[in-house]
Amino acid sequence: MNADSSLVGEDNRRYGLLPFRFRRINDIQYILVNEAGQFITLEFDQLRRLIDFDFDTSSSEYLDLLGRHFIYEDHPALAIELLSAITRTRNAHLPEQAGLHIFVVTLRCTNQCKYCQVTQRERSDRTSDMSRDTADLAIDFMFQTPSKLLKVEYQGGEAVLNFDLVRYITETCEQRAQGTDRVVEFVLCTNLVEFTEEHAQYCRDHRIAISTSLDGPKSIHDDHRCNTHESVLEGISTAREFVGPDRVSALMTPTATSLKRVKDIVDEYLRRGFRSIFLRPLNPYGGAAGPNELGFSIEEWVDFYRTGLDYIIGLNRSGIEFREEYTAILLRRILRTTSPGFVDLQNPTGAGLAVLTYHFDGSVYLSDESRMLAEMGDDRFKLVDLRETTSFPDAITDGDYVDLLKDSMLEASPMCSDCAYAVYCGSDPIGHYREQGDIIGHKAFSDHCRRHLAVFDHLFKLLESDDRHILYRWIADER
Ligand code: SF4
Repeated sequence: MNADSSLVGEDNRRYGLLPFRFRRINDIQYILVNEAGQFITLEFDQLRRLIDFDFDTSSSEYLDLLGRHFIYEDHPALAIELLSAITRTRNAHLPEQAGLHIFVVTLRCTNQCKYCQVTQRERSDRTSDMSRDTADLAIDFMFQTPSKLLKVEYQGGEAVLNFDLVRYITETCEQRAQGTDRVVEFVLCTNLVEFTEEHAQYCRDHRIAISTSLDGPKSIHDDHRCNTHESVLEGISTAREFVGPDRVSALMTPTATSLKRVKDIVDEYLRRGFRSIFLRPLNPYGGAAGPNELGFSIEEWVDFYRTGLDYIIGLNRSGIEFREEYTAILLRRILRTTSPGFVDLQNPTGAGLAVLTYHFDGSVYLSDESRMLAEMGDDRFKLVDLRETTSFPDAITDGDYVDLLKDSMLEASPMCSDCAYAVYCGSDPIGHYREQGDIIGHKAFSDHCRRHLAVFDHLFKLLESDDRHILYRWIADER
């Protein structure tokens, strides 16, 4: 909805409309969202009256509409300026390009997980180990990016199998950052199977956080991940002892077989001392590229998410503090004026802007998904090869990349440009390319879009319910 005319209300107060979009969320209510991400819920008759300049100007909703910049009474230029200021704050993170840097230090692995998204190598095959020379080139490239906070994430394969290089990169980055205004944080993504006290001590001494995989109770995890439930639990306990409980996190990956057991999965996270879970979808790359027995439809995933979220909210109602992380990310986007910086949900795309992936061989990809796509034979989203180009400014101003950024902007994307949720959503050019062969993608057939429409619809219903206080609590201590 875009309009700016000004007419007379019932008690002669005059108002004009500022730009907003709207969507029906149930039989009687519509959610209205403006460019600054502020929202308000109205019934259909109120919405019609608002647009017809016939709104009850003595109502509390009228004052809400005024205060949240959906309408103005005087000075349209000032109203637009205020709206623009909030919009600028929401997008203040954009110049802080490429905060997350994924180093694929080896493709060797101890496991052969069902849904593995890389072509893992035998543990004795060192041909996929990143060399120190390549690591030096990648570190140089990373330090050319403008972000003050650089987050280095070690991935594989199994990163612990090339731990000497993890040490080398960590210490080189620490030295490079010394005496500068750059801060470098580290995360080790590991299946924990061969994670020892020695690794844990190093992670403690260099403040490396640990991220692992826990797919659920033993029966689910062992089925997905090569009977490693026991060793993961041991590894979690070692990591917590040395690195600290708050610096050890786990991710779960659902498959068609575990999708119906979301309560069991949540219970396992509770039992193992986690205070949150991320109910994420399965990335359809590598072993998970369908059709196969692992995959599921978006509708099945949405059912899994809603059931899990309802269960978690029920736990909170009974006094157990536990959070669903994806919901918390989306709530921050909805309820905060600053972006939570979640790389998978950025507009324009976070691929390249928020994340870069350094493959073991010196290829730099726009994201982890771009790297996985390359593993499947398509390197369209390779930004540079460090053996040929080492300049970040040259790479990032390349025409193809700039075109990708432009095409990823939701404001100019069919369906998104009219969508009430565009200001909270993000673009997924790589997912659309994989799914439809086109980076913009037809949103009516897009998994990304169907998933987010369903999730946002559900969240706005929850924000209208008595449970909203539980959701507010999940982000209450974060600004
Ligand atoms: S991808 Fe779908 S949910 Fe997201 S902004 Fe576009 S139309 Fe809306």
